[in-house]
Amino acid sequence: MIEWTREEAENYYRIPHWGKDFFGINNMGNLSVYPEKRTDGPRIDISEIVSEMKNQNISLPAVIRFHDILRYQVEEINQLFNRTIEEAEYNGRYFGVYPIKVNQMREVVEEIIDAGADYDYGLEAGSKTELMSVLALNENKNSLTVLNGYKDEEYMKLALLGLKLGRKVFVVIEKYSELKLLVNASKEMNIKPLIGFRAKLDTVAGGKWTTSSGDKAKFGLTTAEILRGVDFLRNEGLESSLRLFHYHIGSQIPDIRSIKEAINEGSRIFCKLQKLGVPLEYFDVGGGLGVDYEGSKGGTDSSINYEMSEYISDVIYSVKQTCDMEGVPHPNIVTESGRAITARHSCVVVNVFDKIEMVKNSFNTESVSGEHLFVENMREAYGNLDQSNLLETFNDVDQYKREAMSAFKLGVIDLREKAVIETIYWKTLQKIQQMSIDVDLDQLPEDIKNLDKKLASKYLCNFSVFQSLPDTWAIDQLLPILPLERLNEKPTVHTTLADITCDSDGKVDKFIGQGEMEETLLLHDLKEDEEYNLGIFMTGAYQDVMGDNHNLLGRLNEVHVYCDDEDPKDFYIEETIYGVTSRKVLQTMQYNDQSLASSVKKVLDKQIKAGNIQPREGVKLIDFYERCLRGYTYLKHK
Ligand SMILES: *Cc1c(COP(=O)(O)O)cnc(C)c1O
Repeated sequence: MIEWTREEAENYYRIPHWGKDFFGINNMGNLSVYPEKRTDGPRIDISEIVSEMKNQNISLPAVIRFHDILRYQVEEINQLFNRTIEEAEYNGRYFGVYPIKVNQMREVVEEIIDAGADYDYGLEAGSKTELMSVLALNENKNSLTVLNGYKDEEYMKLALLGLKLGRKVFVVIEKYSELKLLVNASKEMNIKPLIGFRAKLDTVAGGKWTTSSGDKAKFGLTTAEILRGVDFLRNEGLESSLRLFHYHIGSQIPDIRSIKEAINEGSRIFCKLQKLGVPLEYFDVGGGLGVDYEGSKGGTDSSINYEMSEYISDVIYSVKQTCDMEGVPHPNIVTESGRAITARHSCVVVNVFDKIEMVKNSFNTESVSGEHLFVENMREAYGNLDQSNLLETFNDVDQYKREAMSAFKLGVIDLREKAVIETIYWKTLQKIQQMSIDVDLDQLPEDIKNLDKKLASKYLCNFSVFQSLPDTWAIDQLLPILPLERLNEKPTVHTTLADITCDSDGKVDKFIGQGEMEETLLLHDLKEDEEYNLGIFMTGAYQDVMGDNHNLLGRLNEVHVYCDDEDPKDFYIEETIYGVTSRKVLQTMQYNDQSLASSVKKVLDKQIKAGNIQPREGVKLIDFYERCLRGYTYLKHK
């Protein structure tokens, strides 16, 4: 074991950069959570949570939610806005809303409402179903409820029902025809609506969601439609209902410059509308506040080049400047940040249960008489390898191997010879890799630099990328991944990760790096009788609901953790939500578990009658089948 300092470990896995003081390494070399962002405050060793789960028979893979981090994020955005408003002598108030599409878990939304109660933090919904949840959950009459997404008559009526409950429900008009729908519904229900207009801005966000704005955007009104809409409402006598101006240019905006530009464009439209006599009170800048998944401070779509405080200053100071210039009163500010609130609060813990190595040393490669020349050539190249001929040897063995494979197909070499050639080939590459470790990177040929990737071991992890990391699969989202223990020991194995789905896309082979994406992740050697668990972090936004049941691997076990400074371990598991059973996943695809079991039983009975199976064995087998139906969909481990 080679010792590794805390700094080296934190630097390699970039913990301070994405973890923002919530995560660190303790004296045991274990990854820990600092829920109050203070190293002298409570500190939760994540592997202690995993042991406690084990005692309670909660198997991995599992989601761990840190509710204190969630609360911290809600309080932070509100306090920063309030402080900046005071400093800037800004006359409006801040009314944040949390868009529940980012994570609709009831416990997550309830925690956010509770943490935001003192700040009148509200909710945003983007569909009828989300609205039904929001209407029931958000009881704070002073907070806002903002409604986005395309709407039908029922959606409008649910919104108006919200007004009758005494809530401030704003219907944001996403396309022009919704206006008529809303006005008709409000006449029918005899209540005056609260209306927001979403503008299609010219500014584009950049990053993965850049088409959320600009001419081709799916949502929003053009300037002409906004003006027509104002006239329409005037004619209906509802001009005073139009109180909110909204835009949303995309999620995870990588560059602060597009944020500034959008604020400038949006606030200018806001002021001009005010001056036309529209009594706008709320300026809603939508979502888009990003998080630095990579910790590289910008430069990629998984990173951002700004901090939350800079974002907030830009919103307040720019809106103030435009309003002062135009002589318009400062509006209340609304944000719809989701990702920045929830991304950090949860992680997925998976156990590595095996590995596939490229280099297998166990096969006997000693020479035997009468061997084919190809085998001799290969063995000779391996024997002659030294510091002076790294690339030459690489090219030679590569050619020998290709020739040998053709020769095998033509029946020229036999199976044993093929196995010997392959074994020596990989051993040679491994030796080249080891001999080039100290060579200056600039001096190394590309082929040799790529050996880390070519020789990487596949660590087999007990989870499904499609269920737990959908964005990694769908949009190449990079996430921080690291072992929960042994962080005081230098990791020496280049790896990529494979999941347990039968899908070659079920893998992780892109990792956060030092400003550049890496194609392998350094992990520790697996030990015979020791568990090796990885934490996949920053999974709290979008991943929970976008995941699917590919291969019928279902939702994970989940624990909700709260910090408690009085507790010897500084935490307690407040709630356990068991992942779905095989039975439940089968039901979603129209299977009935009872009829599955009775079909299997029928066939077993026939086998018993035919004398192929003993009756006692038959009973055991059907019991086993039924027990598996009630079990977890993932691999069972000790
Ligand atoms: C998705 C969405 C959000 C949330 O965006 P984040 O980038 O997660 O903060 C906010 N508003 C609207 C209209 C959205 O569609």
